[in-house]
Amino acid sequence: MATPELQQTLAKSAGFSGTSLHTGEKASLKLHPAPVDHGIKFKRKDLQDEPTVDAKIGNLKTVERATTIGEGSVRVHTVEHVLAALSAMGVDNAIVEMDANEPPIGDGSAQPYVDLIRRAGLAPQEAARRFFNVREPMHLESKSGALLVLLPSDEFRISCTQAGPNHRFTQYLSVEITPPVFEREIAPARTFVYYEEVEPLMEKNLIKGGSLENAVVLRGDAVLSKEPLRFTDEFVRHKILDIIGDLALVGSRIRGHLIAVKPGHAANAELALAIGKEQARCDMLALPRVIPKDNGGLDSEEVMRILPHRFPFLMVDRILSFNEGGTKCVGVKSVTINEPFFQGHFPGHPVMPGVMQVEAMAQVASLLLFKLAKTTSRIGYFMSADGVKFRKPVLPGDTMFIHAELTKSRGERLAKAKCHCVVNDAVVSEGELMFTFLDK
Ligand SMILES: [Zn+2]
Repeated sequence: MATPELQQTLAKSAGFSGTSLHTGEKASLKLHPAPVDHGIKFKRKDLQDEPTVDAKIGNLKTVERATTIGEGSVRVHTVEHVLAALSAMGVDNAIVEMDANEPPIGDGSAQPYVDLIRRAGLAPQEAARRFFNVREPMHLESKSGALLVLLPSDEFRISCTQAGPNHRFTQYLSVEITPPVFEREIAPARTFVYYEEVEPLMEKNLIKGGSLENAVVLRGDAVLSKEPLRFTDEFVRHKILDIIGDLALVGSRIRGHLIAVKPGHAANAELALAIGKEQARCDMLALPRVIPKDNGGLDSEEVMRILPHRFPFLMVDRILSFNEGGTKCVGVKSVTINEPFFQGHFPGHPVMPGVMQVEAMAQVASLLLFKLAKTTSRIGYFMSADGVKFRKPVLPGDTMFIHAELTKSRGERLAKAKCHCVVNDAVVSEGELMFTFLDK
Protein backbone atom coordinates (compact mmCIF):
# COMPACT_ATOMS: atom_id res chain seq x y z
CA MET A 1 0.00 0.00 0.00
CA ALA A 2 1.18 3.50 -0.81
CA THR A 3 1.49 6.18 1.87
CA PRO A 4 -1.95 7.45 2.86
CA GLU A 5 -3.40 10.28 0.81
CA LEU A 6 -3.49 13.52 2.76
CA GLN A 7 -6.46 15.80 3.26
CA GLN A 8 -6.35 19.13 1.42
CA THR A 9 -7.80 22.56 1.92
CA LEU A 10 -7.47 25.82 -0.02
CA ALA A 11 -4.23 27.80 0.17
CA LYS A 12 -6.16 31.08 0.47
CA SER A 13 -9.66 32.52 0.07
CA ALA A 14 -11.22 33.38 -3.28
CA GLY A 15 -14.67 34.56 -4.33
CA PHE A 16 -16.94 35.61 -7.18
CA SER A 17 -20.49 36.87 -7.61
CA GLY A 18 -23.32 36.37 -10.04
CA THR A 19 -27.00 35.67 -10.31
CA SER A 20 -28.77 33.07 -8.19
CA LEU A 21 -30.95 30.70 -10.16
CA HIS A 22 -34.20 30.71 -8.21
CA THR A 23 -34.47 34.31 -6.94
CA GLY A 24 -32.67 35.98 -9.84
CA GLU A 25 -30.90 38.21 -7.35
CA LYS A 26 -27.21 38.92 -7.04
CA ALA A 27 -25.33 36.45 -4.89
CA SER A 28 -21.69 36.20 -3.97
CA LEU A 29 -19.70 33.19 -2.88
CA LYS A 30 -16.31 32.93 -1.19
CA LEU A 31 -14.27 29.81 -0.53
CA HIS A 32 -12.12 29.81 2.60
CA PRO A 33 -9.54 27.34 3.95
CA ALA A 34 -10.63 25.14 6.88
CA PRO A 35 -8.80 22.86 9.34
CA VAL A 36 -8.31 19.08 9.19
CA ASP A 37 -11.48 16.94 9.51
CA HIS A 38 -13.68 20.05 9.13
CA GLY A 39 -15.27 18.85 5.90
CA ILE A 40 -17.24 21.26 3.71
CA LYS A 41 -19.56 23.70 5.46
CA PHE A 42 -21.79 26.38 3.95
CA LYS A 43 -21.97 29.68 5.80
CA ARG A 44 -24.97 32.03 5.38
CA LYS A 45 -23.39 35.44 5.82
CA ASP A 46 -26.71 37.15 5.11
CA LEU A 47 -28.39 35.69 8.21
CA GLN A 48 -28.07 36.70 11.83
CA ASP A 49 -25.19 34.94 13.62
CA GLU A 50 -24.00 33.64 10.23
CA PRO A 51 -25.13 30.03 10.73
CA THR A 52 -23.36 27.17 8.98
CA VAL A 53 -24.76 24.05 7.36
CA ASP A 54 -22.61 20.94 7.19
CA ALA A 55 -22.48 19.40 3.69
CA LYS A 56 -23.45 16.00 5.08
CA ILE A 57 -26.04 13.55 3.88
CA GLY A 58 -27.81 13.77 7.26
CA ASN A 59 -28.64 17.39 6.39
CA LEU A 60 -30.27 16.58 3.07
CA LYS A 61 -33.66 18.30 2.78
CA THR A 62 -35.00 18.17 -0.77
CA VAL A 63 -33.89 16.89 -4.15
CA GLU A 64 -36.47 18.65 -6.32
CA ARG A 65 -34.51 19.58 -9.50
CA ALA A 66 -31.50 20.54 -7.32
CA THR A 67 -30.08 19.46 -3.99
CA THR A 68 -30.96 21.38 -0.84
CA ILE A 69 -29.36 20.88 2.56
CA GLY A 70 -30.24 22.49 5.87
CA GLU A 71 -29.88 22.56 9.62
CA GLY A 72 -32.66 23.90 11.84
CA SER A 73 -34.48 26.54 9.81
CA VAL A 74 -31.42 27.41 7.70
CA ARG A 75 -31.39 26.20 4.10
CA VAL A 76 -28.83 26.19 1.33
CA HIS A 77 -30.13 25.36 -2.15
CA THR A 78 -28.45 24.07 -5.32
CA VAL A 79 -25.27 22.90 -3.58
CA GLU A 80 -24.34 20.15 -6.06
CA HIS A 81 -22.14 22.02 -8.54
CA VAL A 82 -19.90 23.72 -6.00
CA LEU A 83 -19.68 20.45 -4.02
CA ALA A 84 -18.77 18.53 -7.17
CA ALA A 85 -15.95 20.98 -7.92
CA LEU A 86 -14.58 20.89 -4.36
CA SER A 87 -14.76 17.11 -4.11
CA ALA A 88 -13.39 16.29 -7.56
CA MET A 89 -10.61 18.89 -7.41
CA GLY A 90 -9.46 17.35 -4.13
CA VAL A 91 -10.62 19.85 -1.51
CA ASP A 92 -11.59 18.01 1.69
CA ASN A 93 -11.95 20.96 4.06
CA ALA A 94 -13.43 24.37 3.18
CA ILE A 95 -15.98 26.98 4.17
CA VAL A 96 -18.33 28.07 1.39
CA GLU A 97 -19.48 31.50 2.46
CA MET A 98 -22.52 33.00 0.72
CA ASP A 99 -24.74 36.05 1.12
CA ALA A 100 -27.78 34.27 -0.30
CA ASN A 101 -29.60 30.95 0.07
CA GLU A 102 -27.90 29.51 -3.02
CA PRO A 103 -24.62 29.94 -4.88
CA PRO A 104 -24.42 32.13 -7.98
CA ILE A 105 -25.35 29.81 -10.84
CA GLY A 106 -22.55 31.01 -13.14
CA ASP A 107 -22.88 29.41 -16.56
CA GLY A 108 -24.75 26.39 -15.20
CA SER A 109 -21.61 24.26 -15.03
CA ALA A 110 -18.97 23.70 -12.34
CA GLN A 111 -16.42 25.76 -14.30
CA PRO A 112 -16.70 28.97 -12.20
CA TYR A 113 -16.07 26.97 -9.01
CA VAL A 114 -13.11 25.15 -10.54
CA ASP A 115 -11.67 28.53 -11.58
CA LEU A 116 -12.14 29.72 -8.01
CA ILE A 117 -10.35 26.66 -6.56
CA ARG A 118 -7.54 27.23 -9.07
CA ARG A 119 -7.24 30.86 -7.93
CA ALA A 120 -7.22 29.88 -4.26
CA GLY A 121 -4.75 27.01 -4.76
CA LEU A 122 -4.55 23.79 -2.77
CA ALA A 123 -2.75 23.15 0.51
CA PRO A 124 -2.02 19.65 1.85
CA GLN A 125 -2.84 18.96 5.50
CA GLU A 126 -1.35 16.65 8.11
CA ALA A 127 -4.09 14.06 8.26
CA ALA A 128 -5.10 11.11 6.14
CA ARG A 129 -8.10 11.28 3.85
CA ARG A 130 -11.13 9.22 4.68
CA PHE A 131 -12.30 6.76 2.06
CA PHE A 132 -15.38 4.66 1.59
CA ASN A 133 -14.10 1.47 -0.01
CA VAL A 134 -16.92 -0.39 -1.68
CA ARG A 135 -16.67 -3.94 -0.30
CA GLU A 136 -19.52 -5.51 -2.15
CA PRO A 137 -21.99 -4.33 -4.79
CA MET A 138 -24.73 -1.93 -3.70
CA HIS A 139 -27.65 -1.13 -5.95
CA LEU A 140 -30.85 0.81 -6.05
CA GLU A 141 -33.66 1.39 -8.47
CA SER A 142 -35.97 4.38 -8.18
CA LYS A 143 -39.57 4.75 -9.29
CA SER A 144 -38.44 7.30 -11.86
CA GLY A 145 -36.43 4.57 -13.61
CA ALA A 146 -32.97 5.45 -12.26
CA LEU A 147 -30.70 2.46 -11.72
CA LEU A 148 -27.51 2.87 -9.70
CA VAL A 149 -25.03 0.04 -9.14
CA LEU A 150 -21.89 0.63 -7.08
CA LEU A 151 -19.14 -1.96 -7.55
CA PRO A 152 -15.78 -2.48 -5.81
CA SER A 153 -12.90 -0.73 -7.57
CA ASP A 154 -9.57 0.83 -6.61
CA GLU A 155 -10.51 4.05 -8.38
CA PHE A 156 -13.57 6.29 -8.39
CA ARG A 157 -15.14 5.67 -11.74
CA ILE A 158 -18.55 6.64 -13.11
CA SER A 159 -20.17 4.98 -16.11
CA CYS A 160 -23.33 6.89 -16.86
CA THR A 161 -26.19 6.53 -19.30
CA GLN A 162 -28.41 9.56 -19.70
CA ALA A 163 -31.74 9.22 -21.50
CA GLY A 164 -34.31 11.93 -22.07
CA PRO A 165 -38.05 11.61 -22.68
CA ASN A 166 -38.82 9.19 -25.54
CA HIS A 167 -35.13 8.22 -25.61
CA ARG A 168 -34.18 11.63 -26.91
CA PHE A 169 -30.59 12.67 -26.20
CA THR A 170 -29.50 9.24 -25.01
CA GLN A 171 -25.78 9.45 -24.20
CA TYR A 172 -23.20 7.25 -22.49
CA LEU A 173 -19.82 8.02 -20.93
CA SER A 174 -17.44 6.15 -18.61
CA VAL A 175 -14.68 8.10 -16.86
CA GLU A 176 -12.34 7.75 -13.92
CA ILE A 177 -12.83 10.83 -11.75
CA THR A 178 -9.48 12.51 -11.12
CA PRO A 179 -8.85 16.28 -10.82
CA PRO A 180 -7.47 16.66 -14.39
CA VAL A 181 -10.25 14.53 -15.91
CA PHE A 182 -12.91 16.43 -13.97
CA GLU A 183 -11.50 19.80 -14.94
CA ARG A 184 -11.19 18.92 -18.62
CA GLU A 185 -14.11 16.57 -19.27
CA ILE A 186 -16.83 17.18 -16.67
CA ALA A 187 -16.66 20.63 -15.05
CA PRO A 188 -17.52 22.62 -18.23
CA ALA A 189 -20.73 20.62 -18.90
CA ARG A 190 -23.75 22.83 -18.31
CA THR A 191 -27.13 22.23 -16.74
CA PHE A 192 -29.76 21.19 -19.25
CA VAL A 193 -33.52 21.24 -18.94
CA TYR A 194 -36.41 19.92 -20.96
CA TYR A 195 -38.64 22.75 -22.08
CA GLU A 196 -41.83 20.93 -21.11
CA GLU A 197 -40.52 20.56 -17.56
CA VAL A 198 -39.41 24.16 -17.02
CA GLU A 199 -42.39 25.83 -18.73
CA PRO A 200 -44.65 25.53 -15.64
CA LEU A 201 -41.82 26.81 -13.41
CA MET A 202 -41.29 29.80 -15.67
CA GLU A 203 -44.99 30.55 -15.55
CA LYS A 204 -44.92 30.46 -11.74
CA ASN A 205 -41.80 32.63 -11.84
CA LEU A 206 -39.86 30.04 -9.82
CA ILE A 207 -36.65 30.30 -11.81
CA LYS A 208 -36.17 34.03 -12.06
CA GLY A 209 -32.42 33.70 -12.65
CA GLY A 210 -32.78 30.99 -15.31
CA SER A 211 -31.74 31.95 -18.80
CA LEU A 212 -30.09 30.54 -21.90
CA GLU A 213 -26.84 31.83 -20.39
CA ASN A 214 -26.88 29.32 -17.54
CA ALA A 215 -28.74 26.35 -18.95
CA VAL A 216 -29.19 24.47 -22.20
CA VAL A 217 -32.86 24.08 -23.03
CA LEU A 218 -34.03 21.04 -24.98
CA ARG A 219 -37.28 21.58 -26.84
CA GLY A 220 -38.32 18.60 -28.90
CA ASP A 221 -35.18 17.67 -30.78
CA ALA A 222 -33.91 21.25 -30.74
CA VAL A 223 -31.05 22.41 -28.52
CA LEU A 224 -31.49 26.01 -27.39
CA SER A 225 -28.55 27.78 -25.77
CA LYS A 226 -26.62 30.99 -26.09
CA GLU A 227 -23.35 29.20 -26.61
CA PRO A 228 -23.06 26.07 -28.79
CA LEU A 229 -22.70 22.71 -27.07
CA ARG A 230 -19.32 22.33 -25.36
CA PHE A 231 -19.28 18.55 -25.96
CA THR A 232 -21.46 16.51 -28.28
CA ASP A 233 -22.36 14.49 -25.17
CA GLU A 234 -22.56 17.46 -22.79
CA PHE A 235 -25.73 16.15 -21.09
CA VAL A 236 -24.31 12.88 -19.80
CA ARG A 237 -21.26 14.82 -18.61
CA HIS A 238 -23.49 17.12 -16.59
CA LYS A 239 -25.27 14.09 -15.13
CA ILE A 240 -21.86 12.83 -13.95
CA LEU A 241 -21.14 16.26 -12.48
CA ASP A 242 -24.39 16.15 -10.50
CA ILE A 243 -23.62 12.62 -9.24
CA ILE A 244 -20.19 13.74 -7.97
CA GLY A 245 -21.79 16.71 -6.20
CA ASP A 246 -24.55 14.66 -4.59
CA LEU A 247 -22.19 11.87 -3.51
CA ALA A 248 -19.87 14.47 -1.96
CA LEU A 249 -22.47 14.57 0.84
CA VAL A 250 -21.13 11.17 1.94
CA GLY A 251 -18.17 13.08 3.40
CA SER A 252 -15.59 10.43 2.39
CA ARG A 253 -13.99 9.81 -0.95
CA ILE A 254 -15.46 6.84 -2.73
CA ARG A 255 -13.36 4.01 -4.07
CA GLY A 256 -15.78 2.24 -6.32
CA HIS A 257 -17.22 2.07 -9.80
CA LEU A 258 -20.68 3.57 -10.11
CA ILE A 259 -22.84 2.46 -13.01
CA ALA A 260 -25.65 4.97 -13.29
CA VAL A 261 -28.57 4.68 -15.70
CA LYS A 262 -30.89 7.69 -15.90
CA PRO A 263 -29.60 9.16 -12.64
CA GLY A 264 -31.20 12.16 -10.93
CA HIS A 265 -30.78 14.05 -7.68
CA ALA A 266 -33.31 11.86 -5.84
CA ALA A 267 -31.60 8.59 -6.75
CA ASN A 268 -28.12 10.06 -6.19
CA ALA A 269 -29.15 11.22 -2.73
CA GLU A 270 -30.68 7.84 -1.96
CA LEU A 271 -27.37 6.19 -2.84
CA ALA A 272 -25.46 8.74 -0.71
CA LEU A 273 -27.79 7.85 2.19
CA ALA A 274 -27.19 4.12 1.68
CA ILE A 275 -23.42 4.66 1.56
CA GLY A 276 -23.63 6.76 4.74
CA LYS A 277 -25.55 3.98 6.47
CA GLU A 278 -23.11 1.30 5.34
CA GLN A 279 -20.21 3.44 6.47
CA ALA A 280 -21.76 4.01 9.89
CA ARG A 281 -22.34 0.27 10.21
CA CYS A 282 -18.71 -0.51 9.33
CA ASP A 283 -17.48 2.17 11.77
CA MET A 284 -19.51 0.53 14.52
CA LEU A 285 -18.02 -2.84 13.73
CA ALA A 286 -14.52 -1.42 13.67
CA LEU A 287 -14.82 -0.57 17.38
CA PRO A 288 -12.97 -3.13 19.47
CA ARG A 289 -15.42 -5.53 20.94
CA VAL A 290 -14.77 -7.50 24.06
CA ILE A 291 -15.45 -11.15 23.56
CA PRO A 292 -15.96 -12.73 26.97
CA LYS A 293 -13.60 -15.47 28.10
CA ASP A 294 -14.48 -18.27 30.49
CA ASN A 295 -17.78 -18.74 28.76
CA GLY A 296 -17.28 -22.44 28.64
CA GLY A 297 -15.37 -22.11 25.39
CA LEU A 298 -11.83 -23.14 24.53
CA ASP A 299 -8.80 -20.90 24.44
CA SER A 300 -6.11 -21.30 21.81
CA GLU A 301 -4.07 -23.72 23.92
CA GLU A 302 -7.06 -25.94 24.52
CA VAL A 303 -7.88 -25.80 20.82
CA MET A 304 -4.38 -26.96 19.98
CA ARG A 305 -4.54 -29.76 22.53
CA ILE A 306 -7.49 -31.18 20.57
CA LEU A 307 -6.68 -30.26 16.99
CA PRO A 308 -3.45 -31.47 15.43
CA HIS A 309 -3.45 -28.50 13.01
CA ARG A 310 -0.71 -25.89 13.33
CA PHE A 311 0.35 -22.73 11.52
CA PRO A 312 -0.44 -21.98 8.78
CA PHE A 313 -3.31 -24.45 8.83
CA LEU A 314 -4.92 -23.78 12.20
CA MET A 315 -8.04 -21.80 11.25
CA VAL A 316 -9.60 -21.32 14.72
CA ASP A 317 -8.24 -18.93 17.35
CA ARG A 318 -10.78 -19.74 20.04
CA ILE A 319 -14.10 -21.41 20.67
CA LEU A 320 -16.30 -18.74 22.20
CA SER A 321 -18.98 -21.00 23.60
CA PHE A 322 -20.88 -24.26 23.35
CA ASN A 323 -24.63 -24.43 23.80
CA GLU A 324 -26.09 -26.35 26.72
CA GLY A 325 -26.47 -29.69 25.02
CA GLY A 326 -23.08 -29.31 23.38
CA THR A 327 -24.63 -29.61 19.92
CA LYS A 328 -23.66 -26.11 18.80
CA CYS A 329 -20.59 -23.96 19.10
CA VAL A 330 -19.11 -20.74 17.78
CA GLY A 331 -15.45 -20.34 16.96
CA VAL A 332 -13.59 -17.18 16.04
CA LYS A 333 -10.79 -16.54 13.60
CA SER A 334 -9.17 -13.13 13.23
CA VAL A 335 -8.18 -12.90 9.62
CA THR A 336 -5.02 -10.81 9.37
CA ILE A 337 -3.05 -9.58 6.40
CA ASN A 338 -0.26 -11.90 7.63
CA GLU A 339 -2.18 -15.03 6.57
CA PRO A 340 0.19 -16.75 4.12
CA PHE A 341 -2.56 -17.34 1.55
CA PHE A 342 -3.09 -13.61 0.98
CA GLN A 343 0.32 -13.38 -0.68
CA GLY A 344 -0.89 -15.35 -3.63
CA HIS A 345 -4.68 -15.00 -3.36
CA PHE A 346 -4.44 -12.48 -4.88
CA PRO A 347 -1.40 -10.20 -5.23
CA GLY A 348 -2.67 -6.66 -4.65
CA HIS A 349 -6.20 -7.90 -4.03
CA PRO A 350 -6.25 -10.08 -0.90
CA VAL A 351 -9.34 -12.28 -0.54
CA MET A 352 -9.57 -15.28 1.81
CA PRO A 353 -9.94 -18.47 -0.27
CA GLY A 354 -13.32 -20.14 0.12
CA VAL A 355 -11.69 -23.51 0.78
CA MET A 356 -9.95 -22.03 3.82
CA GLN A 357 -13.37 -21.05 5.16
CA VAL A 358 -14.54 -24.64 4.66
CA GLU A 359 -11.40 -25.77 6.49
CA ALA A 360 -12.27 -23.40 9.36
CA MET A 361 -15.81 -24.87 9.48
CA ALA A 362 -14.37 -28.40 9.54
CA GLN A 363 -12.03 -27.56 12.40
CA VAL A 364 -14.77 -25.95 14.49
CA ALA A 365 -17.08 -28.89 13.77
CA SER A 366 -14.28 -31.28 14.83
CA LEU A 367 -13.95 -29.45 18.14
CA LEU A 368 -17.72 -29.77 18.61
CA LEU A 369 -17.65 -33.49 17.88
CA PHE A 370 -14.68 -34.01 20.15
CA LYS A 371 -16.48 -32.24 22.98
CA LEU A 372 -19.48 -34.54 22.47
CA ALA A 373 -17.45 -37.74 22.25
CA LYS A 374 -15.11 -36.67 25.08
CA THR A 375 -12.36 -38.86 23.83
CA THR A 376 -9.13 -38.47 21.98
CA SER A 377 -8.88 -42.14 21.21
CA ARG A 378 -10.68 -41.71 17.92
CA ILE A 379 -9.97 -39.34 15.12
CA GLY A 380 -12.59 -37.64 12.95
CA TYR A 381 -12.07 -37.52 9.20
CA PHE A 382 -13.72 -34.90 7.06
CA MET A 383 -15.60 -36.87 4.38
CA SER A 384 -17.78 -34.50 2.39
CA ALA A 385 -19.14 -31.00 2.12
CA ASP A 386 -22.61 -30.34 0.71
CA GLY A 387 -24.42 -27.16 -0.21
CA VAL A 388 -21.28 -25.07 0.12
CA LYS A 389 -21.92 -21.44 -0.79
CA PHE A 390 -19.61 -18.46 -0.68
CA ARG A 391 -21.72 -15.36 -0.34
CA LYS A 392 -19.37 -12.50 0.43
CA PRO A 393 -15.61 -11.90 0.33
CA VAL A 394 -13.57 -12.21 3.53
CA LEU A 395 -10.82 -9.61 3.67
CA PRO A 396 -7.77 -8.89 5.85
CA GLY A 397 -8.89 -7.34 9.15
CA ASP A 398 -12.16 -9.26 9.27
CA THR A 399 -13.17 -11.23 12.32
CA MET A 400 -14.82 -14.43 11.18
CA PHE A 401 -17.29 -16.14 13.50
CA ILE A 402 -17.62 -19.81 12.63
CA HIS A 403 -20.86 -21.45 13.68
CA ALA A 404 -21.25 -25.23 13.74
CA GLU A 405 -24.30 -27.27 14.70
CA LEU A 406 -24.49 -31.04 14.89
CA THR A 407 -27.46 -32.09 12.76
CA LYS A 408 -27.10 -35.84 12.47
CA SER A 409 -25.14 -38.48 14.24
CA ARG A 410 -25.54 -41.97 12.83
CA GLY A 411 -24.36 -44.43 15.43
CA GLU A 412 -20.85 -43.91 16.60
CA ARG A 413 -19.28 -43.64 13.20
CA LEU A 414 -20.82 -40.80 11.21
CA ALA A 415 -21.78 -37.23 12.04
CA LYS A 416 -23.07 -34.28 10.08
CA ALA A 417 -22.66 -30.64 11.02
CA LYS A 418 -24.30 -27.57 9.56
CA CYS A 419 -21.86 -24.69 9.48
CA HIS A 420 -21.72 -21.07 8.50
CA CYS A 421 -19.22 -18.24 8.80
CA VAL A 422 -20.23 -14.69 9.70
CA VAL A 423 -18.33 -11.44 9.13
CA ASN A 424 -19.77 -8.01 10.00
CA ASP A 425 -23.07 -9.67 10.95
CA ALA A 426 -23.52 -11.16 7.49
CA VAL A 427 -23.17 -14.80 6.45
CA VAL A 428 -20.13 -15.06 4.20
CA SER A 429 -20.11 -18.82 3.62
CA GLU A 430 -22.02 -21.92 4.58
CA GLY A 431 -22.04 -25.68 4.08
CA GLU A 432 -22.98 -29.03 5.57
CA LEU A 433 -20.01 -31.20 6.47
CA MET A 434 -19.87 -34.95 7.11
CA PHE A 435 -17.32 -36.71 9.30
CA THR A 436 -16.46 -40.30 10.04
CA PHE A 437 -14.67 -41.52 13.14
CA LEU A 438 -11.92 -44.05 13.14
CA ASP A 439 -9.97 -45.44 16.04
CA LYS A 440 -6.48 -44.09 16.23
ZN1 LIG B 1 -26.63 20.10 -12.20
